[in-house]
Amino acid sequence: MMESNQQTLDTSYYWRINELKNFLYCARIAYYALALGLDRTTGLAEAGLAAEEETRRRMQRRRKALHAVVAGERHFNVALTSHRWQLVGKLDEMIVTPDGVYLVDYKDTDRDYGYWEAQMYAYRLCAEEHPGLPVLECYIYTIPTRQYHLVQPTSQGRRVLEKTLGMLQEITETEVCPPPTSHLGKCRTCQYQRFCNDVF
Ligand code: SF4
Repeated sequence: MMESNQQTLDTSYYWRINELKNFLYCARIAYYALALGLDRTTGLAEAGLAAEEETRRRMQRRRKALHAVVAGERHFNVALTSHRWQLVGKLDEMIVTPDGVYLVDYKDTDRDYGYWEAQMYAYRLCAEEHPGLPVLECYIYTIPTRQYHLVQPTSQGRRVLEKTLGMLQEITETEVCPPPTSHLGKCRTCQYQRFCNDVF
């Protein structure tokens, strides 16, 4: 079994990897959570979480996680932390092999809204710090299509991650509300739509 990476260090002020994801989906969602302390969920978001939970249960019944991985110890809902980057997150699945680890995150949509790469980069940084094994590959598993999508680490992904962390810091310090997303389709299912009077 993997040992817990939670030490006595206070991680309450670390960035949640979900906050990165929210910011890259729509910067305002991060603002509502970080500056106003709102953390809302909708029926749609809850349905997504339920789909991910059901997928975790289904995956646990499978003998293999990835078709490419023939052996390895599988862990689900893995808490990850990077003290260096001040990041915390929960990864859906980690497969530990003698050569390193594979990281898998489940999504209830097969559409990448522009955050897959940065989010997986953040998980990668955490896993490299603890358990400190080489990260062999990262995958997004899309629930509707039951497909694995390889997410390669790129310098672009790292730049997006660094820039996003800077923007989250700025939102926290200045509490200035960012402009709304330009994709109004996102707003129609958004949990914060009644706060965004300039959009509707
Ligand atoms: S309603 Fe639209 S602009 Fe407002 S937070 Fe949601 S997605 Fe962003």
